[in-house]
Parts: sequence; C-alpha cells; structure tokens
Amino acid sequence: MRTVELEGSPEPIRAGTIICIGRNYAEHAKEMKSDVPTSPIFFLKPASALIHDGEAIVLPSVSKDVHHEVEMTVLIGKGGKNISRDAALDHVAGYGIGLDMTLRDIQAEAKKKGLPWALAKGFDTSAPISRFVSASKVPNPQAMTVELSVNGTARQKETTAQLIFPVQHLIAYLSQFITLERGDIIYTGTPEGVAQVHPGDTLSAFLKNGSGKTLTSLTVRVQ
Ligand code: MG
Repeated sequence: MRTVELEGSPEPIRAGTIICIGRNYAEHAKEMKSDVPTSPIFFLKPASALIHDGEAIVLPSVSKDVHHEVEMTVLIGKGGKNISRDAALDHVAGYGIGLDMTLRDIQAEAKKKGLPWALAKGFDTSAPISRFVSASKVPNPQAMTVELSVNGTARQKETTAQLIFPVQHLIAYLSQFITLERGDIIYTGTPEGVAQVHPGDTLSAFLKNGSGKTLTSLTVRVQ
C-alpha cells in the first residue's frame, strides 16, 4: 500500500487512483508537436509507481530516453461524482509537486501504433511526489509556480495561470467519468522544457506561491 503525506494530517493518507493530465500547457503541446486539446486528455498511473522525497528513480532497461515532466499535483480530500466547477476546490485536501516520468521512446512508439501508454507512464518509480501542503494555504491554485532544476540548473518553470484547464475544470470533468475518492491524486500536466534524464542526475522540484515562497518541494536522484 502506498501512502502520501498531507500537512496537518497526523497519519499518512492511502494513495488511490493517480490521474494524469496530458497537454495542459499550450507551449508543451507545441514542443511535442501535438494539437492543443479542446477537452482534458488523461491517463492513469498505478499507485505502486509513487516514490517520495529522497528516493530514487530507477530507469527501466526497456527505454533509452526517459524524460522528466514537472507538474503541480492535487490531493483529493473529499470524494464525489459529477462535482460542479463551483464546488470543485472544496474536494481538494492539498497541493504538491510531482514528476510524471515518461519513457518518451516507448510513448512515441505507442502513439504511432495507437497502443496504450501504460508502460511509458506507469512503470515503477515513475511518479515521484512531494508532501502535500494544506489546501487552506492555496487560495488560488492558478497563482502558483512549478519549477524543476536538474543538477542545480533550471530546466522547467511556469506559472499555473497558464494551465489550459484549471484545477476546478479538471475535477468537474474527470468526476463525470471516474468517481473521485479521498487519496486520489491528479497530476495537472507539465509546462514546456521536458528533457532526458541520466543516471546520477539529481532532480529538484518546487511548488511556489504567488510571492515566490516555496510551499513544498521534492528531490529525487536518478539511479
Ligand atoms: Mg505529464
């Protein structure tokens, strides 16, 4: 059983379904030579893919091109189905920063053949995730900044104001099809700047508020 940590919660929370949003920043869709979607694109990762601050990403031998994707993450606190946009943020327990590690060559092959992305996106250690900061500290999830540095060099940085589909929209849309439960996690999509990682790399990811203060962070190494 995998768990996540939430600020203010005395006990770890059991991780549920991990729902990841694709192409949720226009500049990233462009760098992937993909169309900007008209409704959210999503896929799932198994909870067993989660790793925490200080742990290691293990590169699977099946891929020669593993990419980082830094993303704001959302922890569902109160479940529901057909959640309205107006009520959506009441269902959020916390916000964090995560990495949607991707086997880019395997994904490209799957796209070409029309096959699922499960291997490219769901392999063990593909979901590094930070401790979640309480939602009460994030009045506006569209006023945050996501940042990633690799070996101390800045690689990805963007404000969540650029999200094509903001958190309220994602929760309303997803909950039409998938009943959300406490412990479910949404990866909200990556901005531009995705790139290959190599053994020995150290990846540091940050979720900052509008004043530039780091609310939570994550450091993992590549094995
Ligand atoms: Mg992603």
